[in-house]
Amino acid sequence: MTDLHTLTIHEAAELLRQRKLSSVELTKAHLERIRAVDDRVKAFTLVTDDLALKQAEEADKRLASGENLSPLTGIPLAIKDVICTKGITTTCGSRMLENFKPPFDATVMEKLNATGAVMLGKTNMDEFAMGSSTEHSAFFPTHNPWDLDRAPGGSSGGSAAVVAAGMAMGSYGSDTGGSIRQPGALCNILGLKPTYGRVSRYGLVAFASSLDQIGPFARDAQDAATLLQAVAGHDQRDSTSSTQEVANYSQALTGNIKGMRIGVPKEYWVEGMDPGVEKVVHSAIEALRDLGAEIVDVSLPHTKYGLAAYYIVAPAEASANLARYDGVKYGYSYRDTDDMWEAMEKTRQNGFGAEVKRRIMLGTYALSAGYYDAYYKQAEKVRALIKRDFDEAFAQVDALVSPASPTVAFKLGEISDPYQMYLQDMFTIPANLAGICGISIPGGFSENLPVGVQLLGNTFQEAAILRIADAFERVTDHHKQWPKNL
Ligand code: GLN
Repeated sequence: MTDLHTLTIHEAAELLRQRKLSSVELTKAHLERIRAVDDRVKAFTLVTDDLALKQAEEADKRLASGENLSPLTGIPLAIKDVICTKGITTTCGSRMLENFKPPFDATVMEKLNATGAVMLGKTNMDEFAMGSSTEHSAFFPTHNPWDLDRAPGGSSGGSAAVVAAGMAMGSYGSDTGGSIRQPGALCNILGLKPTYGRVSRYGLVAFASSLDQIGPFARDAQDAATLLQAVAGHDQRDSTSSTQEVANYSQALTGNIKGMRIGVPKEYWVEGMDPGVEKVVHSAIEALRDLGAEIVDVSLPHTKYGLAAYYIVAPAEASANLARYDGVKYGYSYRDTDDMWEAMEKTRQNGFGAEVKRRIMLGTYALSAGYYDAYYKQAEKVRALIKRDFDEAFAQVDALVSPASPTVAFKLGEISDPYQMYLQDMFTIPANLAGICGISIPGGFSENLPVGVQLLGNTFQEAAILRIADAFERVTDHHKQWPKNL
């Protein structure tokens, strides 16, 4: 069998069950693919070859017994380096955690290990998940498999690139303001940000705790459904995780979206947006109409304040979360002094990169006495208005459709102004502020570069957006396209 790395998870799972393929073969094929292309893509911070083969052997035993099988048994996956893996280096893209081996597994990892999935390694990311290009990784930037001179998006750029390049069958990332959906869009794969509280954050290195959410990258809706199913659900160790029953996502993929009402928010068509992106998203909307969906114009009037509110709330929470990296408890520690304060200061000076320091300063300022009301409290009020916009929209429609990113993949080094980089997330941030779910799906191409279409659903309506994604895939083949230059 050739080209095992081009199989979807559900195709491979079928072959594994029929014993026409072993997990060891499948895993070896992916390790080979990593060896063949990752020196150019640079998506992994760590490849766990030995562990992967060991897990694959275990999975094969399980498959042979036919007992306790899951759709992920024996499937090779990759994990963003922000998710704690017991005894396996978890860097968060930072010098601060360069040698950090967590003493525990994130809940998501426990769940994946229980399915018998295979972990190929940890993927590169912007430091502490702050960024939209993976260029803020303390180690190296990741390259977009569609054009190696371009960024894969971020902050989960590594997790997007491994799936787009066939180095893993699926992966997980984290999305605080767009870090799953935007790289998914730029790499022509699906990226799903679940509803806040759908997936446990226990063991996810915290960036902005009221916004962070773990979610999957996949090559089709069925795989995205499977990957979400495996990790969704309440966790006693995360008090913000929801007790709401988890839907059956695969069952929602009926192909039928007749009569579904899909809203097009008028504020999501902004000046300065790439005309190629606009064209692709409009034609995707027409395809949804042809599938029988009712397309409705809606308004989300506070959209334009989303970015500003996010860049107060997220840095404020980050400044508190990152206070723990003081060189005392774990991570990098500056030791060339007897002075405690100097040790802490130098630890943070050397351990954090420029973007992280910028966020800490921004957040500390916004939370400081006298400014709290003017900035943080105001941002929280705006956040409530953004949530209300969505509540009103979802009273009329089942889902919303928009561009995922205002541009296609940009060149590495092209965006040096932090504010320009922040604009990458203007269409994804409102969903995090409101806590709703969203997915970006391959919508087509503009000058040979992928364009992502974003579908937003109300809280716990992952099944609805996955159903639309799947119906769209049945009448298009964008998601089946592979980067040709690898
Ligand atoms: N790009 C946004 C930021 O830098 C979002 C990051 C994310 O979702 N983790 O904050």
